[in-house]
Amino acid sequence: MSRFWSPFVKNLVPYVPGEQPKIDNLVKLNTNENPFGPSPQVIEAIRAVLDDSLRLYPAPNCDALKAGIASYYGVKSEQVFVGNGSDEVLAHVFHGLFQHDKPLLFPDISYSFYLVYCGLYGIQAKMLPLAEDFSIDPADYSQPNGGIIFPNPNAPTGMALGLAQIEQMLQANPDSVVVVDEAYVDFGAQTAISLVDRYPNLLVTQSLSKSRSLAGLRVGLAVGHADLIEALERIKNSFNSYPLDRLALAGAEAAFADNDYFEMTRNAVIDSRERLTSQLQTLGFEVLPSAANFVFARHPQHDAATLAQGLRERRIIVRHFAKPRIDQFLRITIGTPEQNLKLVEALGQLL
Ligand SMILES: *Cc1c(COP(=O)(O)O)cnc(C)c1O
Repeated sequence: MSRFWSPFVKNLVPYVPGEQPKIDNLVKLNTNENPFGPSPQVIEAIRAVLDDSLRLYPAPNCDALKAGIASYYGVKSEQVFVGNGSDEVLAHVFHGLFQHDKPLLFPDISYSFYLVYCGLYGIQAKMLPLAEDFSIDPADYSQPNGGIIFPNPNAPTGMALGLAQIEQMLQANPDSVVVVDEAYVDFGAQTAISLVDRYPNLLVTQSLSKSRSLAGLRVGLAVGHADLIEALERIKNSFNSYPLDRLALAGAEAAFADNDYFEMTRNAVIDSRERLTSQLQTLGFEVLPSAANFVFARHPQHDAATLAQGLRERRIIVRHFAKPRIDQFLRITIGTPEQNLKLVEALGQLL
């Protein structure tokens, strides 16, 4: 701590990302990265802009990328916002849309960055417990609030809500912004983007980190009513005019253009998840129904932290959260078929 800090800094509790260890032959199933690389067209597009033009600032309004996303989803460009990862998009959402007198509602077991942003922006958080089966009950969100946010599918449970349930929340909260964080939507849930023209209070955020395998490029987006997007643009242009560099813009545009690769890899992840789920069940695990690129599983006879440690000794890392209600679960990212096999073999030995 330093006497030079702005006073509020000493109370900040920053987000702790999953580790990125430098260990050879590591089976890394801890941060929900995509086991398949990005589209070869993305790599090519980035190479094509690696030249003298780097001396120039990138496009400040990211118009070409927004147009590509708008056409992909059948919305207008002014309904699209892009940022340096969906984490940055979310930060602007908290700053620009959630600073109200009433508390922000979100699930108690959810993406831990939400509480971090509440701390950063001085927003009161009201966390609502998940149901007994770890699902989100939309009826819980019919109470006074200054906004609502939840991931769909939820993290780290992997469980998804249907669009009818999301509509129920939107209708119960016409005076608040409802943000659906769709970081994992492409692996098995339905996007709520089809609802944005009917609900001016709906904002959907997505990430290129998971389903488009570009965690290292840092690109995220939001789609919603142009008025919501305008708030995000005001924040962004008061913070950093160029959050996406030339390489990120070129790569992200190419990612949305190569639909075949996207469909092929996301289906491979989904198939792999279904196979891994049944293998884990055969080993005696209870696996929550996942619509994401990870599974959340517990074994009735084996302590999760001990299992995670045993896996680590075999160079396999998964995520364990030492938190109430979920401390007996492991969150396991879907890997390549070979990685999943190594995991299942190692678990077989540990059990
Ligand atoms: C990974 C993740 C994000 C952040 O994605 P980036 O685009 O890499 O910043 C946001 N929300 C949830 C629920 C996530 O799991």
